Amino acid sequence: MSDQKEKPSTLASGDMSDPPHICIIGAGISGLRAADVLLQKGYKVTILEARDRIGGRICQSDKLGYTVDIGPNWIASCFLSTSLHATGDKHPIRDLAIETNTSLHHWNNKQNIFTSDGKLLPAEKSAELSTLLWDIIEEAFAYSAKNGKSIPETASLYDFIESTVKEKLPDRLEDQKLILSMSEMWGAYVGHPVTRQSLRFSWMEECCGGDETFIETTYEAILDRIAKLPREKADIRLGSRVMKVVTPTDRFSGAIKVATMKAEVVECDEIICTVPLGCLQEVKERGFYPRLPQKICDAMDNISIGRLEKVYITFPSAFWTVNQEDNFAGYTNWLSPKYAPDTNPECWPQEIWNLAAFSPENRRPTLLFYLYGDCSRHIVKLTFDRSTEERHAALDAFFRPYYSLLPNFSADDENCKPKAILSTEWQMDDLAGYGSYCNFQVGIKDADEDVKTIRHGVPERRLWFAGEHTAPFEELGTAAGAYMSGEAVALRIFDEYLAEKERY
Ligand SMILES: Cc1cc2nc3c(=O)[nH]c(=O)nc-3n(C[C@H](O)[C@H](O)[C@H](O)COP(=O)(O)OP(=O)(O)OC[C@H]3O[C@@H](n4cnc5c(N)ncnc54)[C@H](O)[C@@H]3O)c2cc1C
Repeated sequence: MSDQKEKPSTLASGDMSDPPHICIIGAGISGLRAADVLLQKGYKVTILEARDRIGGRICQSDKLGYTVDIGPNWIASCFLSTSLHATGDKHPIRDLAIETNTSLHHWNNKQNIFTSDGKLLPAEKSAELSTLLWDIIEEAFAYSAKNGKSIPETASLYDFIESTVKEKLPDRLEDQKLILSMSEMWGAYVGHPVTRQSLRFSWMEECCGGDETFIETTYEAILDRIAKLPREKADIRLGSRVMKVVTPTDRFSGAIKVATMKAEVVECDEIICTVPLGCLQEVKERGFYPRLPQKICDAMDNISIGRLEKVYITFPSAFWTVNQEDNFAGYTNWLSPKYAPDTNPECWPQEIWNLAAFSPENRRPTLLFYLYGDCSRHIVKLTFDRSTEERHAALDAFFRPYYSLLPNFSADDENCKPKAILSTEWQMDDLAGYGSYCNFQVGIKDADEDVKTIRHGVPERRLWFAGEHTAPFEELGTAAGAYMSGEAVALRIFDEYLAEKERY
């Protein structure tokens, strides 16, 4: 590629001898999908990935003795239809799951709720309150979509739930309290407490709590499918951490230069940056030359990053399962527990998904805890830089007060002692941007405009952004959203070349 160009080489002109060269920073699902689309259109693609693997936040571990996802497990979407084979809305990840024979799980509607003094609520009560809570959350989405920026930026989703539950259950003070306590489960969707969730932009979180489809196996086959063409045709350079991107100030003069930590310099025609939002917040001032427009830097700072973490605890057998036909609930909550003052003086609520409820071939004697906010920070502090034995002991001590309330637990029974525990540390991972995915907290004024600003990028400098934080509004933060963002940016680049062909 020459340094000086009259105009970018035009694939659109039909000259396949010198196709445009697109460099993609990051081999997560957004970068791989962008590469997939661009390669199908005949472009030359180089992917620079800092890690020694592809996938980014889609990642597996076999430390439990079998393989599990340490990033996403869910196919999250507000528009997934309830039946996997329904002919309704298309959903890229669900479609890839079907194509790759990835086993999906629709949870049974059973839910257990332990009150703050450790008592199990009757099943009918749990079901009634849970339905009411979700109705209120749906109302909040609708209220937020309708009233948008007229809602004070200080208002939280919790405020809405609190006032609505008082209206709906005026004479039932105990149930009001229970619903408010149950509303804390919102944190496990976005990575921060429900009191921090912006009401003004709740509509941008609508994918949370939609149809609950869980991948029984892992995202591996889906990722492999997306990575197939990039693996065959792109130049994927692992261990290549990008330090600086130098772009010309217009679309015509010279190549973009991308410098990595290994002191390689890649020259290209367009650059797509898919690094997580937290990474952008760190490098936005020094990582780009010329400097990014102030509006983009501000937008990057305005959006928050959740602190969702996962802890898998696997046992010799699923002692809590009464019999395989009548599986224990898929989902259990321990509301603000007051009975673990030594390990959890803040009474952080806990929740699990029961992997023994899967179809027989994928069933595991495993409980999956989701943690967020200060609790997840505490768990990571307990385990970071500790030996395997120390981690195991610390995590078992923290979670025992909860799993010991499950049916059939007996402290002396070997089946009730964890065999292996796996905990994630995304908030310590600089390449994940020190967190899980973007969210919209109380105080943010123009979240929709911020997302649009980053998504727009700087096309006049041939600099584009993709990633979960630039996804379509209904899919922000999700793997599907990241995938769609990669596809969208690739198509925008294609359109740009077509438009240039028409201009010249
Ligand atoms: C704990 C957890 C649970 C989740 N659960 C779900 C779920 O159930 N369902 C769901 O849909 N989504 C879930 N998500 C979100 C989902 O994983 C992400 O939205 C999606 O994977 C993000 O893809 P991405 O391509 O935007 O970013 P990433 O996958 O993070 O890809 C970005 C890539 O950029 C690389 N990189 C960073 N800096 C540099 C640099 N300087 N140079 C080169 N490369 C660099 C990174 O190593 C990474 O590979 C979860 C995430 C986490 C962490």
